[in-house]
Amino acid sequence: TTNLLGKTALVTAAGQGIGRASALAFAAAGAHVIATDINGETLGTLVGEAGVTTRQLDVLDAHSIATTIAEAGPVDILFNCAGYVHAGSILDMSEEDFDFAIALNVRSMTRLIKAVLPGMLERGDGAIINMSSVASSMKGVPNRCAYSLSKAAVIGLTKSVAADYVAQGIRCNAICPGTVQSPSLEQRLAATGDYEKARADFIARQPMGRLGTPEEIADFAVYLAGATYTTGQAFAIDGGWAL
Ligand code: NAD
Repeated sequence: TTNLLGKTALVTAAGQGIGRASALAFAAAGAHVIATDINGETLGTLVGEAGVTTRQLDVLDAHSIATTIAEAGPVDILFNCAGYVHAGSILDMSEEDFDFAIALNVRSMTRLIKAVLPGMLERGDGAIINMSSVASSMKGVPNRCAYSLSKAAVIGLTKSVAADYVAQGIRCNAICPGTVQSPSLEQRLAATGDYEKARADFIARQPMGRLGTPEEIADFAVYLAGATYTTGQAFAIDGGWAL
């Protein structure tokens, strides 16, 4: 089992879903966790959890990222989890949709990496985990144009950071989940107008016949935080969707 005792892990989008489960899993593995989210209310559900400090952070806000990292002290593990799904094809995607997907799903990650990397390089040790998706360069998925192009960029970012710093103790990997049970998934299912059918359709594309759980993805994030011989990889954890 992975022992993260003495490590500090910063998680974005830790208020709910995969980010929240990961904050708890990092803490259970012994890390001191700085759990961040734009939503102070959901973040509040982590207050009092052993090993977890909460801090409101909008990853679109460069100034807020800078102050958060300055006040955090050394960050050994960065989990860039924040991301957003825009539903639609290329014809449904406005310039604003494109810009927002890039800003939230990719540029925010570059800012956080830039903020923590100098400290990691000083210590010669760091694990960066970026949230991508099977819907990326891994697989073409209908009605996920802005999402998939931004999540594919996350894989490019991951490989680039891994290549530049592999000899200096930095590892950077991407997680590519299939469909995972989360609050935003529930909203997206409801938004289709036929919740039961949408849910059945999502389950049907997972060969294992079920959705993933946030805890399953969180376990994998903990593994990657401690996996000392892998970098630059995009790992599918998807119930067999990509096979
Ligand atoms: P979610 O979508 O239910 O929650 C997203 C969280 O992000 C919320 O807590 C929200 O407050 C936070 N957030 C939104 N904008 C933010 C901002 N500007 N700054 C900081 N936080 C912000 O959670 P989820 O479904 O577990 O998704 C988490 C990540 O996993 C996302 O990057 C998503 O694309 C990715 N992912 C999810 C699935 C899935 O099926 N759930 C599949 C593949 C990838």
